[in-house]
Amino acid sequence: MRFEDRYSRQVLFPGIGAAGQKRLAQARVAIVGCGATGTCVSSLLVRAGVGHVLIIDRDYVEPSNLHRQTLFDESDAAESLPKAVAAVRKLTAFNSEVEIKAEVADLTPENVGRLLGTADLILDATDNFETRYLINDYAVKNRRPWIYAAAVAAYGVTMNILPGETACLACVFPAPPEGPMETCDTAGILNSAVNMVASIEATEAMKFFVGAQDKMRRSLLSFDVWSNDRAEMATARPKKGCLVCDKHEFRHLTGERRAPATLCGRDAVQIHERHRPVDFAEICSRLEPLGQVKHNEYVLKFRRDPYEMTLFPDGRAIIKGTSDTAVARSLYARFVGS
Ligand SMILES: [Zn+2]
Repeated sequence: MRFEDRYSRQVLFPGIGAAGQKRLAQARVAIVGCGATGTCVSSLLVRAGVGHVLIIDRDYVEPSNLHRQTLFDESDAAESLPKAVAAVRKLTAFNSEVEIKAEVADLTPENVGRLLGTADLILDATDNFETRYLINDYAVKNRRPWIYAAAVAAYGVTMNILPGETACLACVFPAPPEGPMETCDTAGILNSAVNMVASIEATEAMKFFVGAQDKMRRSLLSFDVWSNDRAEMATARPKKGCLVCDKHEFRHLTGERRAPATLCGRDAVQIHERHRPVDFAEICSRLEPLGQVKHNEYVLKFRRDPYEMTLFPDGRAIIKGTSDTAVARSLYARFVGS
């Protein structure tokens, strides 16, 4: 396929042009999370011709994802494919001329340098503040731009963080919002709200890549596509005294070993403290007498009511049916090993 044909309508847009299109082809982006935001933003950027795309996600496809996670289909859910793997399969079919890589992993203080080190721009498509603060610490410390994006219910919010120039995430939210937070699992989510926030994020990324940084928004933008409420808060300047961008305290980066994360509202716990590869065939034969077990090359699923454990080759597991980390740990120790 001729480069000129594929991107002809985009090149016609003066903000991109032929020079901008070439710059997109050189660009390196890391997308952290591949749920609704990640599937939309990666689809737009791969189709737009961003040359090097890394997709990082720790989760696998489930039927309840399909209404909003636009890269996945019923067979991905039936196979419990890791989202990053399923996404790369689809994205490659959209555009085989760009480099797209999958990383099935949780972004942690240990791997953040390896995973984000080569990206020109980092895009937030996660569902939790812990990971966002980690990205913010890494980005501010390494002067790497990133874009915050979140959506829940009919509401979306996004902000560009250009370290050394604009406010950072910790300037605006010094601590995670208090109290029970609304999540997609408690408040639901409209696919249109998340696609809107992802579309804005993708557009800001394209501005960055083509060298139109002056056109990037210097505000925290929030909107509700149901009530039509819309607000903007200026973020053009860093906040004096910000622990991260002013005081350079990178507490999420130097992270003491993190506790196993409870995945928000899903009645599930992730166990990630054991960094030891597991042998699926061996575990499968051991677990067969104890419950239902099946595996492919990416995940092993073990069901023993009322629990379901999904195990990844690096030893990480997501245990459903409990939000009690002690219960999850003991199930893991019992069935996988301690
Ligand atoms: Zn700051």
